[in-house]
Amino acid sequence: MIDARTELYGIIGNPVRHSLSPLLHNRAFRRMGVNALYLAFEVIDLKDALRGIKGLGIRGVSVTIPFKTEVVSLLDEVEETARKIGAVNTILNREGRLIGYNTDWHGAMEALEQRVNLSGKKVLLLGAGGAARAIGFGLREKGSQVVIVNRSTDKAKKLAEELGFVYQPWLSVGTLDPEVIINATSVGMYPDDQESPFPKEILREGMTVMDIVYRPLRTRLLQEAKEKDCLTIDGLEMLARQGARQFEIWTGKRPDVKKIKENLYEALRNEAMGTS
Ligand code: NAP
Repeated sequence: MIDARTELYGIIGNPVRHSLSPLLHNRAFRRMGVNALYLAFEVIDLKDALRGIKGLGIRGVSVTIPFKTEVVSLLDEVEETARKIGAVNTILNREGRLIGYNTDWHGAMEALEQRVNLSGKKVLLLGAGGAARAIGFGLREKGSQVVIVNRSTDKAKKLAEELGFVYQPWLSVGTLDPEVIINATSVGMYPDDQESPFPKEILREGMTVMDIVYRPLRTRLLQEAKEKDCLTIDGLEMLARQGARQFEIWTGKRPDVKKIKENLYEALRNEAMGTS
């Protein structure tokens, strides 16, 4: 029940109305008996929003497109990993000081490590945006051998240099023989869900294929990977785990990832059937 003691959390981004984070966190608050509420804030001015968080005593926020990198220089403190990645997706308001974290890399690594030991593995990482940066950082920590491919070659080169990885042009994808493939671009996302970032010829039985796009959940890439008997990991696996880590940063309590996933899968099923 909402009362005078209810604490406020939220997500700041623009656009933000499609976000699954309010559902994820509000269900977890309720399940775990935390008197808190989580709202979506479509932000026009980031600096004003941060002042508002302090002024109103909002306890924590998730940060999404397009503010994950811009926010880094506007916070009172940024945790070391988030600083190295150069992106913040979680803010904790600790007694009026805004502290930034990055839980995307945790979410992605936990999702992958459920299925595959990343140490020494040959990984093809597609993308050089915010999510790819976080995932690339995680892969370096795990000791993977990574090749980065991206539409804008200058961004791929820069990220590969920063992380000590190899860069390859997009057209060379067919010549690579990775053990793990990660799509960290928005290719295949609704409404362009007939697109796939990779030619299906590079998919082989036994490969692990993760797509971080989750609308639709069964992207074309994942469907083709399944047809080739690859191990597949969908975008909700990462989303659920990055959210669980946020929840823990804010409340000190670790929520049940299995329950979070059930809620998210149900929400996407309802969306697909037009019932939400
Ligand atoms: P971002 O910083 O805007 O980066 C977008 C990436 O996609 C860039 O590498 C961009 O290449 C590439 N791209 C976009 N359109 C393309 C196209 N038509 N052809 C080829 N490449 C294209 O976004 P982000 O934050 O990294 O997010 C990327 C995707 O991951 C989004 O779909 C987002 O919803 C999803 N995501 C999922 C989770 C999760 O928990 N599952 C978490 C974060 C993000 P250029 O550099 O050439 O522009």
